[in-house]
Amino acid sequence: MHVLVLGAGQLARMMALAGAPLNIEISAFDVTSETIVHPLTKAVIGHGLDNAIHTADVITAEFEHIPHDVLDICEKSGKFLPTTQAIKAGGDRRLEKALLDAAGVKNAQYTIIQTREDFDAAIDQVGIPMVLKTALGGYDGKGQWRLKDQQEVDRIWAEMAEALASHNQAIVAEEFVPFTREVSLVGARGKNGEVVVYPLAENIHVDGVLSLSTAIDEPQLQAQAKQMFTAVAQSLDYVGVLALEFFDVNGELSVNEIAPRVHNSGHWTQQGAETCQFENHLRAVCGFPLGATQQLRPTAMINILGQDQVDSSLMATSGVHLHWYGKEKRTGRKMGHINVCADSQAMLFEKLQALSKVLPKAHYPAIHQITA
Ligand code: AMP
Repeated sequence: MHVLVLGAGQLARMMALAGAPLNIEISAFDVTSETIVHPLTKAVIGHGLDNAIHTADVITAEFEHIPHDVLDICEKSGKFLPTTQAIKAGGDRRLEKALLDAAGVKNAQYTIIQTREDFDAAIDQVGIPMVLKTALGGYDGKGQWRLKDQQEVDRIWAEMAEALASHNQAIVAEEFVPFTREVSLVGARGKNGEVVVYPLAENIHVDGVLSLSTAIDEPQLQAQAKQMFTAVAQSLDYVGVLALEFFDVNGELSVNEIAPRVHNSGHWTQQGAETCQFENHLRAVCGFPLGATQQLRPTAMINILGQDQVDSSLMATSGVHLHWYGKEKRTGRKMGHINVCADSQAMLFEKLQALSKVLPKAHYPAIHQITA
């Protein structure tokens, strides 16, 4: 099987690593340069979308901000999965909110802003505090404003008006959700409609960027999340791995956003679950049976932000696994991650505590927060 992945970042790289034992070959399409590259070495192996499509058995995506003309061409080939509708919804908060409403899953009350009048109406309707997000192009907390006070309205409007000048842009104004924590559910839906999900992960973001994900075992919350996951996946006739990010408000979940792809909060499955999310995505889109998703042992994932090396002595600790992405170093950039496994939750916490002594706060903020 030959799978073409739209996008040539770390997610395509980890799909390639997971696909090799199944004889699934991956090539990655860099949508900016229109080159086909090897997902690990990044060596150019071809040019042009038509060529890329022609040589693929299946086409999928590792990110959602893909030009719609590229998606439409892939759709026409009949080879694209999960569905272009899901990718488009993942890249446009207007479509995403409409999709969540149509699937009947709880999400923050919202309204769409295009003009100053809309903004004033949103303040009446949604109220203050309010979270404002650009409909297009936002990720990792970028393109967002928090309106906490009436006095900030003019300043925030000036900034939003600048963002609104770009083509087809809009602002989604959401009620502020007083969540107690953030969790996410990663799962897969097969071609036959079968749905499997991993245990929920509890996520700690710092400055809008994921720093730590820990798999949790909370049956009631898990059942709620699975029901919402199934509703969204079915409404899209989705095939592949999908992630839902939730706000947990005292045990009641509300969907924050969807990611129509393998997800950072599912990287722990590489060492902590029977079948990792990358393999399950490939199994789903290639039409193979889905792999078991049960957790093997307590596991957490720590993102490596803005560092391209760690002390190799880390690798001497059992249960600690390094995953580098081979990217050029930039401040705050996701450069790799560390999966940490243990025999019990208490031992996992001890390992995270020990790691916080050697991994600096600037690059690994959440382990410092939880062990402080
Ligand atoms: P997002 O890009 O939508 O995931 O937002 C980035 C982060 O902002 C989330 O992980 C939350 O911590 C926070 N956030 C987003 N939307 C809301 C909301 N409606 N209420 C409270 N916090 C929010």
